[in-house]
Amino acid sequence: MMKTFTNIKDMQDKCKAWKAEGRRIGLVPTMGYLHAGHLSLVRKARQECDIVIISIFVNPIQFGQGEDFEEYPRDIKRDLELLEAEQADAVFAPSSRDMYPEGYSTFVEVEGSITKKLCGASRPGHFKGVTTVVSKLFLICQPDKAYFGQKDAQQVTVIEKMVRELNFPVNIVRCPIIREADGLALSSRNVNLNSEQRQQAAVLNQALKAAAREIEAGQRDVETVKQGMRKLISAQPQATIDYIEINRAEDLGEVKNLSGEKIIMALAVKFGNTRLIDNLIVEV
Ligand code: AMP
Repeated sequence: MMKTFTNIKDMQDKCKAWKAEGRRIGLVPTMGYLHAGHLSLVRKARQECDIVIISIFVNPIQFGQGEDFEEYPRDIKRDLELLEAEQADAVFAPSSRDMYPEGYSTFVEVEGSITKKLCGASRPGHFKGVTTVVSKLFLICQPDKAYFGQKDAQQVTVIEKMVRELNFPVNIVRCPIIREADGLALSSRNVNLNSEQRQQAAVLNQALKAAAREIEAGQRDVETVKQGMRKLISAQPQATIDYIEINRAEDLGEVKNLSGEKIIMALAVKFGNTRLIDNLIVEV
């Protein structure tokens, strides 16, 4: 039977008891409104761990002023049904008030360019909110393994660095991007697209794939590849490009020429008020 925990101490005590019994805990952190992308992480955790915990928490401190915290979709009842069907052991769904009580002032921050570029440039403070909540979740749930999607490539790279540098005793497992039939990466935010925007959003993955083909055909100039993607995406009237970047896949470091390393092409594009991200890794 799956159990839902809203109380932090109850969740932490239960995890302590599971650990004392020698059970291996897998944690899947989410903001809810679950889709097949989330469920692929849950299934991977189910295969690899004795206890599977899914956290559902729309983390207010990772949203900036004017972002979509209020509009972020929520449906806990449906989420619980989906997770029950996946044979999850526990759902952790704390309140904001309990996670960040009056006077709360402790944060975990990965400094440097890794959190300042890409999404960090458009969303100042975003990754500080992410690393803080993930640290809290790790200390509450004490997972042996935690599962993150490659969909949020910068997020998982930042979390891996945090885990390494703070010596969290947890293994981070990266899971592949799950997509719709037309290539659009699944996202809870997709429900906020109108039908025109939804149709046009397929261009994101198309542009990434076109860029990959260009590189395979021998193109080695970063700017030319980025220009190609920019052109395809801006042809969609509803699309407003936030960024299109090419970085080293491993650490998101700068790449000057495309030669002999794994690169990640990453983009963020707004359709109306809905900001979507996608990425593709290419071995040059
Ligand atoms: P979110 O609820 O958006 O914070 O996502 C929770 C976790 O699910 C994160 O690790 C995401 O990277 C992952 N995730 C979200 N969408 C997808 C997707 N389409 N494919 C794989 N993983 C995903």
